[in-house]
Amino acid sequence: MGMTQTRLPVDAKPISLFRGLKVEPEEAKSILRHQKDDRLGWGYSLNAYRGCGHGCRYCYVRGYPAPIPPREPGPGESGLTKPRLRNPSEWGRWVTPKLNAPELLWNQRHRLHNESVFISSATDPYQPIEKDFRLTRKCLQVLLTCRTTRVIIHTRSPMVLQDLDLLNAFGPRLSVGFSIPTDDDSVRQVLEPDAPPIHARWAAVERLAEAGIQVGISAAPLLPVRDPLGFARRARESGAASAWAGGLRLLKEDPFQALLAQHHWLHILDARFVDSVRAAFAQVLPSRSRRFAHLAPEPVWACPPRFTPGLQPSLFDHAS
Ligand code: SF4
Repeated sequence: MGMTQTRLPVDAKPISLFRGLKVEPEEAKSILRHQKDDRLGWGYSLNAYRGCGHGCRYCYVRGYPAPIPPREPGPGESGLTKPRLRNPSEWGRWVTPKLNAPELLWNQRHRLHNESVFISSATDPYQPIEKDFRLTRKCLQVLLTCRTTRVIIHTRSPMVLQDLDLLNAFGPRLSVGFSIPTDDDSVRQVLEPDAPPIHARWAAVERLAEAGIQVGISAAPLLPVRDPLGFARRARESGAASAWAGGLRLLKEDPFQALLAQHHWLHILDARFVDSVRAAFAQVLPSRSRRFAHLAPEPVWACPPRFTPGLQPSLFDHAS
């Protein structure tokens, strides 16, 4: 899919602020990204947005080049705006809805016969702006017509419940992965300040499970956990069908590491910490915690020599 976009007339879709978030819509050229790694279990990823209003401080998508959509000149301007890449420090303060995502998906749906689609790999499909743009819902409506296509949704937001009717209509060919990387909401407030509170995520998992939706817990990247066994028990009680823990990936010279140090949380970079939570999951959910067991053991770098994109449940490939 890549970073391609067409120009928008400046007065057709003006750049605006959405609750402090800079919104810069675009018309994308493609919406499905082929996933080459068979081990991940899906053939395509779909991102109806670039950027993410949840703005998680560790999100590794911030490290990928993010072009600002060019605009036609407005009144008093001469020529197109100059192409510019965003600074990673701007992550969480902008989002680019792909306005034509549902139409593109409709036109490309023939590629999805007997395939699976992961929503989303480089953004949260239920970030706050989805409430107004509804691009995820519209894409799901297209996918519902693709009778042989399996769908995996990954989110941190209870907003997914607003599409419960639609999720149910998919039956067993749809599952939801819920990201709950800590049992401590004070950690969430520091590291995922604009993402929904932890208790609201557990409540959403329970609602999904009660509604018969297959839902799994993704504790990845794993953040500080007060009580690993209690965390695993909460996952079991929520009705989740699976739970998985994965390590954090740092960017090169990542300022996030200083934030961890400031809060005395550097231990989350230690593979033994991740293993301890995985062991708790295996103890409490022995037959259900191995959903990703076929994947190679995941390395955790304290100080990677360079940024290496790798397996992380919500963010498997390049921002697109
Ligand atoms: S980790 Fe996910 S929810 Fe958080 S900012 Fe990145 S894409 Fe958004």
